[in-house]
Amino acid sequence: MTRVSVLIAHQLGLLTYRAETALAPGTIVAAPLGNRAVMGVVWDDPADEAVPAEKLKVVSALSEDLSFDGPLRRFIDFVAAYTLAPRGAVLKLTLRGPEALEAVEPAKGLTLTGLSPGKWTPARERVRAALAAGPMPRARLGEVAGVSSAIITGMLKAGALAQMDLPEALPAEPKMPELSADQNAAAEALSASIGEGFSVTLLNGVTGSGKTAVYLEAVAAALAAGRQALVLMPEIALTPMVVARLTERLGHEPAEWHSGRTPAARNAVWRQVADGSASVVVGARSALFLPFRDLGLVVVDEEHDASFKQEDGVVYHARDMAIARAQAASAPVVLASATPSIETQHNAARGRYRVLALPDRVGGAALPDIGLIDLRQTPPPKGEWLAPPVRAAVTQTLSAGYQVLLFLNRRGYAPLTVCRKCGHRMLCPNCSASLVEHRLRGTLVCHHCGYFEKKPDTCSACGAVDSLTPCGPGVERVEEEARAVWPDARVLTLSSDMAGGPAELSAALDRASRGEADIIVGTQLVAKGFTLPKLQLVVVVDGDLGLASGDPRAGERTFQLLTQVTGRAGRVTSGGRALIQTHAPEHPAIAAMARQDAEAFYAEEMLMRRDGWLPPFVRLAAIIVSALDRQQAVDHAQLLARTAPDVTDLEVLGPAEAPMAILRGRYRFRLLIRAPRTMKLQSILGEWLAAAPITGTVRRSVDIDPQSFL
Ligand code: ADP
Ligand code: ZN
Repeated sequence: MTRVSVLIAHQLGLLTYRAETALAPGTIVAAPLGNRAVMGVVWDDPADEAVPAEKLKVVSALSEDLSFDGPLRRFIDFVAAYTLAPRGAVLKLTLRGPEALEAVEPAKGLTLTGLSPGKWTPARERVRAALAAGPMPRARLGEVAGVSSAIITGMLKAGALAQMDLPEALPAEPKMPELSADQNAAAEALSASIGEGFSVTLLNGVTGSGKTAVYLEAVAAALAAGRQALVLMPEIALTPMVVARLTERLGHEPAEWHSGRTPAARNAVWRQVADGSASVVVGARSALFLPFRDLGLVVVDEEHDASFKQEDGVVYHARDMAIARAQAASAPVVLASATPSIETQHNAARGRYRVLALPDRVGGAALPDIGLIDLRQTPPPKGEWLAPPVRAAVTQTLSAGYQVLLFLNRRGYAPLTVCRKCGHRMLCPNCSASLVEHRLRGTLVCHHCGYFEKKPDTCSACGAVDSLTPCGPGVERVEEEARAVWPDARVLTLSSDMAGGPAELSAALDRASRGEADIIVGTQLVAKGFTLPKLQLVVVVDGDLGLASGDPRAGERTFQLLTQVTGRAGRVTSGGRALIQTHAPEHPAIAAMARQDAEAFYAEEMLMRRDGWLPPFVRLAAIIVSALDRQQAVDHAQLLARTAPDVTDLEVLGPAEAPMAILRGRYRFRLLIRAPRTMKLQSILGEWLAAAPITGTVRRSVDIDPQSFL
């Protein structure tokens, strides 16, 4: 018997066990815990020699061929140390149930045996016809033949159908693109870095410059070198597009990893990544925690995107952790964006990241012309949202046979519902947020906790009948206006809460890109990644929307979003333009959009960050204290403030009510910690928090590098 230390996928983290034979670090084990068994991994830390041997429980290896290699273990240690999350919680992100350790069964299909099922009914005939060209999976057969499961079962029982392993899809011929000279130079530079150790490259190209085409070449190069590659996307809705383009480029399908996939599909991907049979993964941020066997390249597409921040559980930024993952694997990482984050630009300027630039659009299409519509001078009619000059431009674009995008980053019909009689606002009972009307569903919805209710006929405060009035627009309301003003146009609304989920959404995007809609009304989802060949005019319905929060990061966010969305116009044919409706044309982010001067905007932002003592020039951390009882939250937050570490140059601000002061029924307070970048902030925070144990219903979460600076 030997002692081993095992990291278990549980808050307790590292425990000491016994094993029959020596188990190497990285071995996946079943570890008894209380009266159940949890999964764990033998870790590198020395085992605890103080515990008497007879008290130790015995672990056993769960897999002969799969294990966690050194780079993955180092990555898990790093994420835990960086985010101050328990190591066991980070391990939990990387492990799946024991089923994932099983070899992946070849896909099964059904085939005709040649035997008669007795009588050839019309339904059975349809099954026979569907299988004439070859076997197919049962679920698909039901769809294609249009028969019920019972019909198929009957034919199986009668011996007319049999199960067989489906042959693997034959790889198609990889399709080599013709790259421009700039693209080619960038692709070659990236490909050359494969196998040359850790490096970070910023691939900075204007919208439509062909960045995706460039990083696909780097992925192909990694595969050609026998390594694995990971492509991280900020949004599930974007994965089908990249999967399709990778399939075309490589001749085989990449693995896809995100929460929209079934547990069985995810188990299969996990297993195939671990045994090396999956060479490319396209995924959302959690794909970072897959057990790659030989990771040779990491790509982070739209690296500036705020969706890369994971806010629940282990709080991490997937772009930053992707860099750590690549470093642990000694592999290059590519950050692609038309509008890189200030943090990334700062690192590039300091020479820590290499920069590859694509300054022009492919095929020579010009960037769109951008105009501001000052709503103070040319307001829309009362109760409507599109100003007269915008309407004229839309009419003109439609009559020229092109598409228009009306962009508003707000789901639903109206963001606020107010009683005309008493002024009462309809609020979420669990959150400090107003309820958003969704007229299609006839409900009022909280976008923070999901609470919803049927829209009432009477005001809940004064009882007035039919007095509840929608205030402000959401995409549904803009759609209503578009249908009224342009009754002959085909209007399509695209929003992330669309019925039917990601599949329906990507089908709708396909229809839009084939030109089957004249006016597209969309939220930020349409701002990213898609090419709509006929789109010539982008209208930003509310350019000021992101600026209202007062967060010092709001300018950067607005500039990025507006650049992305206006960059949808005129991608394929020149002559695209964008109109931004605004009440604040003088705001630096809006003015920079009109001048199309990204460089000056970023230079000013950088100065503002430096002078304001904000990231990336300092390090921030936020501590959110929440409780069901307001006083408990206040007490704990004040305890933290009183016991704050007394360290030169470390500042503790607050506690103050968090930007969302009540969320899901919990009262929230926030402390903000500011320190020089050279300070070992995590260890100071760790000691401070350990000395202030939580009590009652209090919960505490630490956010290193918070997105909001408020
Ligand atoms: P980005 O990622 O910079 O927005 P994409 O790689 O998506 O750009 O390219 C924009 C469009 O141009 C896509 O439809 C893509 O297929 C096409 N494209 C990219 N590179 C080329 C090229 N060298 N020649 C022709 N078309 C290209
Ligand atoms: Zn709510």
